[in-house]
Amino acid sequence: MSDMGLVVVGAAGRMGQTLVRAIHATPGARVIGAVERQGSPHLAKDVGELAGIGSIGVTIGDDPLSAFARADGVIDFTAPAPTVEFAGYAAQARIVHVIGTTGCTPEQDAAIAAAARHATIVKSGNMSLGVNLLAVLVEQAARALGPEEFDIEILEMHHKHKVDAPSGTALLLGNAAAEGRGIALEDHSVRVRDGHTGVRPDGAIGFATLRGGSVVGDHSVILAGAGERIVLSHHAEDRGLFARGAVKAALWAHGKKPGLYTMRDVLGL
Ligand code: NAD
Repeated sequence: MSDMGLVVVGAAGRMGQTLVRAIHATPGARVIGAVERQGSPHLAKDVGELAGIGSIGVTIGDDPLSAFARADGVIDFTAPAPTVEFAGYAAQARIVHVIGTTGCTPEQDAAIAAAARHATIVKSGNMSLGVNLLAVLVEQAARALGPEEFDIEILEMHHKHKVDAPSGTALLLGNAAAEGRGIALEDHSVRVRDGHTGVRPDGAIGFATLRGGSVVGDHSVILAGAGERIVLSHHAEDRGLFARGAVKAALWAHGKKPGLYTMRDVLGL
C-alpha cells in the first residue's frame, strides 16, 4: 500500500511543527499538505524548513478544502472553532481526522460527533500511551476506592501559553475517575475554589490548574483517604510524545469505518 498522505492543519504551531517532524520520521506516512490560518506570517513557507528538517516540497497554504481533497487524513492540533470546521470538511472528503485540539464546548463536541458519520475521527485530550494507560489505572482505583473513604483531586501544570483550563488531559483523567465511580463528571466536578467554600462535598472530583514557564504537561490524580494518599502521575517531557501518538492514530484509522474513536481504541486499552 502507498504511504498515507497527511495534511497538518495549524502547521506553524508548537504541535504543528512537531507533527511535521513526526510524520516525516514515520514509515508509511507522508506530509502532503500544510494549512495555517488566513493572514499567518508563515504562509507560502516550506513546512519542512519551518519545522527544522529542511525542505520537503510542501508549502503552507490557507485553503483547507483543496488540501483535504488530495489527502487520506488530517492531523489537527489547532483551536475548537477551526477544528469543528475541519471536521465538516473531513466528512465531505470522507477521510481520517485526528483531533488533538482541547477546550471544545459540548456543542462543538456534538458537531464533531455529527461529522463522524462520514469522517473517521480519532479525538483525544491526550495522545500519549502513558496518559491513556494512566486513565485505565485511575478508573480502576476510583472504582476500588469509594467516595466515603477517598477524595479525588486532579492537579495539572502546563506552559504559560496554554489557553484552556483545566487541560484536556485533566478532563480525560476526571472522566476516567467518574467512570470508575459510575457518576457523570459534569455533576460532580469542582473546577475552582476561592474564599469561604464550605467543606468538600462527598464524591466531588476536584481540579487544580497551574500555569508557567515551558512545562509540556504534568498531571497527578490524588486519591486522599484518612491517613493515606495514593498519587498517580504522568510527566510529559517532550511534545514529540503527542505527535507520535497522533500519527499512530492516523495510521490505525486509515481504512476504518467512519465513526468517533478515542486513543484507548487505537491503543487497545
Ligand atoms: P499553538 O497556538 O502553538 O498552535 C495552534 C496553531 O493553529 C497556530 O499556529 C494557529 O495559527 C493555527 N490555527 C488557528 N486557527 C487556524 C485555522 N483556522 N486554520 C489553520 N490553522 C489555524 O498551540 P499548540 O500548543 O500547538 O496546541 C494546539 C492545541 O492542541 C491546543 O488545543 C492544545 O491544548 C492541544 N494539545 C493537545 C495535545 C493532545 O495530546 N491531545 C497535546 C498538546 C496540545
